[in-house]
Amino acid sequence: MFRRLAALFFLAAVLPAAAETPAKQLFGAVKDPAPLASRSIGTYARGCLAGAQLLPINGPAWQVMRLSRNRNWGNPALVNFLEHLAAKAPSAGWNGLLVGDMSQPRGGPMATGHASHQIGLDADIWLTPMPKRELTYDERERVSAVSMLAPDTLSVDPKKFTNRQFNIIRLTAKQPEVERIFVNRAIKKALCEQTSGDRGWLSKVRPWWGHDYHFHVRIACPRNSPTCKPQKEPPSGDGCGAELQSWYAPLPKPTKPSKPKPPPPEITLKDLPPECSQVLVAK
Ligand SMILES: [Zn+2]
Repeated sequence: MFRRLAALFFLAAVLPAAAETPAKQLFGAVKDPAPLASRSIGTYARGCLAGAQLLPINGPAWQVMRLSRNRNWGNPALVNFLEHLAAKAPSAGWNGLLVGDMSQPRGGPMATGHASHQIGLDADIWLTPMPKRELTYDERERVSAVSMLAPDTLSVDPKKFTNRQFNIIRLTAKQPEVERIFVNRAIKKALCEQTSGDRGWLSKVRPWWGHDYHFHVRIACPRNSPTCKPQKEPPSGDGCGAELQSWYAPLPKPTKPSKPKPPPPEITLKDLPPECSQVLVAK
């Protein structure tokens, strides 16, 4: 309680207007990381990031996309994880990683695109392999990722979702740091159908909306982050039975005409851990 009050007092002194401002505007406006000890604070969808590290835009087996977004920041544990995963990718027949959004320089909510990615432990990886040459800045802005779905969206298009995509997702899921991977239901269905042998890794691969152009990898709270809040373990089992089926169930018909729901209130600084107010203003 004292820490929360102290943080609010601190905030009121430093940022009089900030308490009411949507946190996505505050965190979205900061261009550099907080010069504090590296740590992820809070939960994947309500938190922030101190001492973020930049994933270099080019590596031996990765390239960062959409550079104008300035979202290639992460907990050093995530940067290290991606560098190691990229190094292993060629052994899975994947030339290298095209890396999409990670986190903003100080994490926090984003103005566009994601509910999570707030604490520097999430990264989007394109389901398009890295080309052999270095992409230009413009190409990284403009090249579109390719959807893996067939036109009916119920299944993958086998010409697009091949062994290569299967192998890079499996390789990623098998890394011990990985807590969850999010993919479209049709991709989860394809993984379920195409897996022979060990199925343990499938429990980490969770169906989610979208995620047909990229997969989203989330690593566990690292040791450097005592105030990072871990998620529950995913349910055991491969998730290929009733759970996958539930993603194909018809939507329930509304019983009475429904009023459009008001949008949920914006996240403000008071919804985030108190430490995040300090992370925001640290110089
Ligand atoms: Zn994502």
